[in-house]
Amino acid sequence: MSVLVTGGAGYIGSHMVWELLDAGERVVVLDRLSTGFEWAVAPEATLVRGDVGDRELVERIVAEHSVDAIIHFAGSIVVPESIAEPLTYYENNTCKTRNLIEAAVRSGVRNFIFSSTAAVYGAAGLEPVREDARLAPESPYGLSKLMSEWMLRDAAAAHDLRYTALRYFNVAGADPKGRTGQSTPGATHLIKVSCEAALGKRPFMQVYGTDYATPDGTCVRDYIHVCDLVAAHRLALQRLREGGGNLIANCGYGHGYSVLQVIDSVRRVHGAAFEVRMAGRRPGDAESVVADSALARRELGWQPAHDDLDGIVNDALAWEAALARRNTY
Ligand code: UDP
Repeated sequence: MSVLVTGGAGYIGSHMVWELLDAGERVVVLDRLSTGFEWAVAPEATLVRGDVGDRELVERIVAEHSVDAIIHFAGSIVVPESIAEPLTYYENNTCKTRNLIEAAVRSGVRNFIFSSTAAVYGAAGLEPVREDARLAPESPYGLSKLMSEWMLRDAAAAHDLRYTALRYFNVAGADPKGRTGQSTPGATHLIKVSCEAALGKRPFMQVYGTDYATPDGTCVRDYIHVCDLVAAHRLALQRLREGGGNLIANCGYGHGYSVLQVIDSVRRVHGAAFEVRMAGRRPGDAESVVADSALARRELGWQPAHDDLDGIVNDALAWEAALARRNTY
């Protein structure tokens, strides 16, 4: 019995592979290596280079490796890019997921875990957002993921398939053992950008907007350590295998930090100052995005072990330093 991890050479997927191997699972990775890295895949996993939309390939992998569960991370993830290239996002995230679901149904894979996103919600306001909040994606990225949730819902109603969709909030940090981390060049996410600035990989960083209706005027996000996120997937896998029903659940800690609080944390953990410039708002940013995570805690028995901003930053900084040594760029 094996677990198929799509996008297993990417940031979250490569952590998932380690989490599964550490738990004694057999793992097959399907990744076309467009943004992921072969070296990020744990050597004990089998890596197949190919496309998740390739139904025949997926069916062959399922048969060869006795796959009983698919954890689907592969996809395009940059929100502004999805606005510029919506059809690419619908192709990569929606059409290919459709094919993957069909391959799962045809080859008898009963358990499907899908990486969804907080971007399926509309502008949330300051309160933590629950799963039954209004679904109103503000980008093709969010909509491409929401359509995949809907396809899973309908396929699960019609076929012998059960699914869990986990809606990620702001994923950050890296494997504390230093085995993998966020390695994609051209980072836009706050914690990675701040770490790069701290380590001198960029001359300065900017704070996008200081006039939001938040306590210090900068945007608030719910930053979740990537290891807690993949742990939630492992629990979801266990639950599905034990016969648990379909589930859509938020993955965040339930409290947020402002941009300035994150930068303070990076300064504190790194131990030295770096240049931070105040700038105007970045188009499309919501002022606050925080998860209500009661459902994941209740249904999955999820108990985060890394709910500590300085700890997340510490692991992100350590990975950034390791990347510099690796000279990947
Ligand atoms: N942000 C910032 N400077 C940066 C990158 C991000 O001020 O260099 C802010 C961004 O405007 C948002 C927050 O940090 O308010 C989180 O942004 P990120 O891109 O990390 O995640 P998002 O919530 O947009 O998915």
